[in-house]
Amino acid sequence: MAVAFKHYINGRWETGVTLGVSENPSDLSDVVGEFARADAAQAENAIRAAADAREAWAASTPQRRFEVLDAVGSELLARKDELGTLLAREEGKTLPEAIGETARAGQIFKFFAGEALRIPGQKLASVRPGVEVEITREPVGVVGLIAPWNFPLAIPAWKIAPALAYGNTVVFKPAELVPGCAWALAEIISRAGLPAGAFNLVLGSGRRVGQTIVESPLVDAISFTGSVGVGESILAAATARRAKVQLEMGGKNPLVVLADAQLDRAVEHAIQGAYYSTGQRCTASSRIIVESAVFDRFAEAMRQRTRALVVGHALERGTQIGPAVSREQLEQDLAYVAIGRQEGAEWLAGGEALERPTRGHYLSPALFVAQPRHRIAREEIFGPVACLIRADDYEHALALANDTPFGLCAGICTESLSRATHFKRHAQVGMVMVNLPTAGVDPHVPFGGRKASSHGPREQGSYAAEFYTTVKTAYTASG
Ligand code: NAD
Repeated sequence: MAVAFKHYINGRWETGVTLGVSENPSDLSDVVGEFARADAAQAENAIRAAADAREAWAASTPQRRFEVLDAVGSELLARKDELGTLLAREEGKTLPEAIGETARAGQIFKFFAGEALRIPGQKLASVRPGVEVEITREPVGVVGLIAPWNFPLAIPAWKIAPALAYGNTVVFKPAELVPGCAWALAEIISRAGLPAGAFNLVLGSGRRVGQTIVESPLVDAISFTGSVGVGESILAAATARRAKVQLEMGGKNPLVVLADAQLDRAVEHAIQGAYYSTGQRCTASSRIIVESAVFDRFAEAMRQRTRALVVGHALERGTQIGPAVSREQLEQDLAYVAIGRQEGAEWLAGGEALERPTRGHYLSPALFVAQPRHRIAREEIFGPVACLIRADDYEHALALANDTPFGLCAGICTESLSRATHFKRHAQVGMVMVNLPTAGVDPHVPFGGRKASSHGPREQGSYAAEFYTTVKTAYTASG
């Protein structure tokens, strides 16, 4: 079989040192493509290319950056059905979700095309006579971008687009489960008018390629999205050599449902937040904390809705929940279902491997009533496994919501303005949702969390400038 997905290094497509295979999780007989896998030397070549290109790209005009990013955004939007089909086939989210994600990636490139024309600065009066002070933002230099598999176009987009908009050069390392999506995005970027070396794609393992990027003295900044364990090791390595680092990691996001909520809407928000994209979202609602007065009614409605969800092939019309992304992820989901039962959580629905006409990693969405101490209520599962937790009242619900090492997002369903306002202020998270699912964010505002969920400046929106630029203060004698 021909190598479909290659590295893009210094303006050229390159084969790898070894090969990997990308499979369709909805149909394991469908090979999406073979992909190149780099060793450390090939990753180092990409880093050197990015370092050699940094001066040229840093000197590019905002107009040129706008044109490059706008062209990438336009093509993603124009090809959203085709690229969404590739995404659904490779990652396993449903076709409508995958097309939506592709369009989102296009919108993100368009947003940062505009940001390239609006790079902010400030001019202030000095405290001294005859002196002027200016504050400007400069590119950081070479940025290493390390991405997970669960949003294989949107997450790379929200890292690559601001990196280039603010004049940095890029070494992009995607997750090994989604090389086809990374290659498709790189192929578009390769035709957008960048100088050779300004954008590089290196496919391969975290240990070889990822670690080489993290440890290279030529890489000035690292933006990582992925698991807590890997994030912590990256933080230690990057900090030791004083590289700038931004981490977006896991979540165990609460959705609080108060007795005064519109119950039908709250159930829909919980279903959407817990199970869509197969629960494989860092913003998924995995702890649904329900006030006692409506707990039994809510649990029964949720159980019925959970059991009615249609699990199937990601490309099939009518599928609501696609497969788990990989055998390892399915095994992790099933292991947590078993742990839930062993620890005495009350099983309400799902949690079984399913057979479908094509062989894939299918699982029925699982629902438990859990105690706050249960592992399924504390640890990130990253699959369609949700817990209902009983709360005595609002104060108890808020305390339960905050009782977690994570702090990405939190939601509340209530008709009370004062409760909603209190929750917005007191939820210990980076993002709060009122009468909405915890998952589903806008691309033009900051994204990120607190506690073990995130480290460093926020991603997305104009706040991305904090990470992708470095500030310079200049003093000029004006007299
Ligand atoms: P992961 O941590 O296993 O891998 C993420 C990336 O890091 C991959 O590209 C991987 O190859 C690379 N990597 C692995 N080991 C490395 C090392 N030693 N050095 C450098 N790079 C290395 O995560 P995953 O399984 O791809 O994604 C799932 C995780 O991502 C979940 O925990 C989820 O919560 C998290 N996630 C977080 C957000 C967020 O913004 N908070 C968004 C999406 C996913």
